[in-house]
Amino acid sequence: MIFGKYGRVLGIVLAGGKGERLMPLTRYRAKPAVPFAAKYRIIDFALSNMVNSGLFSIYCLVQFKSQSLNEHIEQGWQFGNALRGRDYFITAVPAQMWTGERWYQGTADAVYQNLHLITLFDADRVCIFAADHIYKMDIEQMLQFHVDTKADVTIAANTVPSSEAHAFGCMDTDPSGRVVSFVEKPKNPPEIPGKPGFSYVSMGNYIFERHVLEEAIIEDSSMESSSHDFGKDILPRIYSRCRVMAYDFKSNVLPGIDRPYWKDVGTIKAYHEAHMDLLQHPSDLTLYNPLWPIRTVSYSDPPGFTYPDKGQGCSVVGTLRAEGSRVLGAIVHRSVLSRNCVINAGAVLEECIVGQGVVIGENCKLRRVILDAYNVIPPNTVIGYNHDVDRERYHVDPESGVVVLGMPKIQLRRTLG
Ligand code: ATP
Repeated sequence: MIFGKYGRVLGIVLAGGKGERLMPLTRYRAKPAVPFAAKYRIIDFALSNMVNSGLFSIYCLVQFKSQSLNEHIEQGWQFGNALRGRDYFITAVPAQMWTGERWYQGTADAVYQNLHLITLFDADRVCIFAADHIYKMDIEQMLQFHVDTKADVTIAANTVPSSEAHAFGCMDTDPSGRVVSFVEKPKNPPEIPGKPGFSYVSMGNYIFERHVLEEAIIEDSSMESSSHDFGKDILPRIYSRCRVMAYDFKSNVLPGIDRPYWKDVGTIKAYHEAHMDLLQHPSDLTLYNPLWPIRTVSYSDPPGFTYPDKGQGCSVVGTLRAEGSRVLGAIVHRSVLSRNCVINAGAVLEECIVGQGVVIGENCKLRRVILDAYNVIPPNTVIGYNHDVDRERYHVDPESGVVVLGMPKIQLRRTLG
């Protein structure tokens, strides 16, 4: 339990990015509010990790298209009356232009524009975490490492194939775990000595001693050449003059059946892959560990329902289903069915992510398709079998070939994103 044991620890969740790489799912909502795994939103993973670790003082810095994100935090992440108070809060903080007429320029600027919140909380340490990663981590273990190693800054680090590392901040460490180089998104990521083909990357989660954070971002704020970003500017600048340690995510042990899993779901390819990972059994990423629950808003939806409609049998295999989802004489394999969707007779779905309230007409055939909330697919539609045809009507992700149907505009008012 972090609370009190490590001094006054403040959690800051960075939730203000544009999320351009996740278009069209981010057309009408912020990336952390994008639905995930049938009934969650992406930010639920970062917030669950904090709360499960005993970190109860959390500001979420929001900015772009934040209405549904704010409402989600408001509806699902509030403490009851008995706990509410100075040290128990999860609050969405909108960009308010405290430092001039400009929105957050980058992640470091987002924190700089809210320095007064750190002062008012009287923090000793600040946990600054990204909001767009799917993982489970006990933050207390990272804090213990931070304290034991007398770090000024601790970066959560993971080992990934070098071919994927160019999308992240890459670092080298000495044998004690001290960071001796940090480069954001390098073209040729350095390999880990003795582990060819793998690189050590930042997970975008940092613990800062308060005074180190304040000094670094105040200095950064006056640098005209800076993009005011932790990964691009702050970390590459301070590792040589401060004690910056890398915390090995693989050393984090959770109670129960969880094994280390981490994925930045900032692209359509990664978003789809993370869902497919979830559909393995057993899976490294599990939603069924009661000792490390992923929390979210509870809705009073009806139960899911399966019925062999119109003489058509049902087959629902390797599929995650939320409340209210109805499969009526259809075949659904390795897919995700979100709240209150309906799959009608004769339809066949394979590796699809079906959003809330979606209706799939009779005899549709869909393969590797993401359908955002409230799409209505007319009977006999075929998607995902011929990309040349798909490209004329839908967004086909060039990296993965996954077809994405964004949320229909007309539904915006009732969906709240
Ligand atoms: P994209 O690069 O696809 O536009 P992004 O703008 O969200 O996505 P990332 O580098 O993926 O950029 O952001 C990492 C995390 O930091 C995310 O949780 C994001 O919401 C947050 N973030 C990015 N930019 C800002 C900002 N200017 N203010 C606050 N949070 C931010």
